[in-house]
Amino acid sequence: MSDTDLRDIEALDARKSDGIAVVTGASRGIGAAIASRLGADGYTVAVHYRQDSAAAADVVEKITAAGGAAFSFAADLAEPDTGTAFWASYDAAAGALRDVPVRVLVNNAGIVVDGVIEETSTEDFNRLLQVNATAPYLIIKEALPRLADGGRVVNVSSGATRVPMAGIAGYTMSKGALEALTGPLAQHLGPRGITVNAIRPGTTDTDMNAGWLRGNSEAVANIVGLRALRRMGGPADVGDVVALLASHDARWITGQIIDATGGERL
Ligand code: NAD
Repeated sequence: MSDTDLRDIEALDARKSDGIAVVTGASRGIGAAIASRLGADGYTVAVHYRQDSAAAADVVEKITAAGGAAFSFAADLAEPDTGTAFWASYDAAAGALRDVPVRVLVNNAGIVVDGVIEETSTEDFNRLLQVNATAPYLIIKEALPRLADGGRVVNVSSGATRVPMAGIAGYTMSKGALEALTGPLAQHLGPRGITVNAIRPGTTDTDMNAGWLRGNSEAVANIVGLRALRRMGGPADVGDVVALLASHDARWITGQIIDATGGERL
């Protein structure tokens, strides 16, 4: 590749507001925070959701009320044809925007199944792998012709891959698979100036943890005590790190797995 080609890619990279940022699982929690932040940064945000159309519409409304642009679309990532179904639903919702390159793809949607290995059913395990690892793989695969040169892929993993937790082994394995995609894909898409990174959030107060964390001051204190930055943090702390990786300033970071736990168990 010539220097001219490289300069062209860098110029494309700087024109971030030209493109669309697709965020999976963006109707709530960390995904909603990522969508809001990318909307504020000037991207047209495609807010993916599974079934809660009202919550997705609320995220779209907040982004547009703040002066940004957004639309929503639905797809169940537990379905085996997720790659094609996801983008078909996207195209239907994007309308005239369907031919605009996707500058940022954030694979955020995920599920957790609690229980040590002997308590986890085969069905639960397969669902974990499908939603957390297979779906992002297929969504990226089908996205390749749509991704802008100089674009970004960010996969949301988990701090659980660094600090073992026996009660969520299947979840950890699925996130490990997602992380393992980062290097090879960064290598493969690097010539197009596309960066591929993953982030590892720590335990965050979202619906995923509502059952045991929300309103449980003892559990919160335990987590805060494990963190160098000594606070619980929230979805926006994670969303801002994703926005950082999506930014022009992060153009030289690729193939990396970024810990975003506030320094948990350093
Ligand atoms: P959440 O449960 O609030 O959000 C998960 C999102 O994924 C939801 O929007 C949900 O609709 C979507 N989703 C789940 N199954 C889906 C399916 N079959 N099809 C389509 N969408 C589906 O949880 P969150 O905390 O906001 O999680 C966001 C990401 O962050 C997940 O990948 C999660 O594993 C990761 N994470 C969360 C924590 C935490 O403590 N909350 C910690 C580390 C990593």
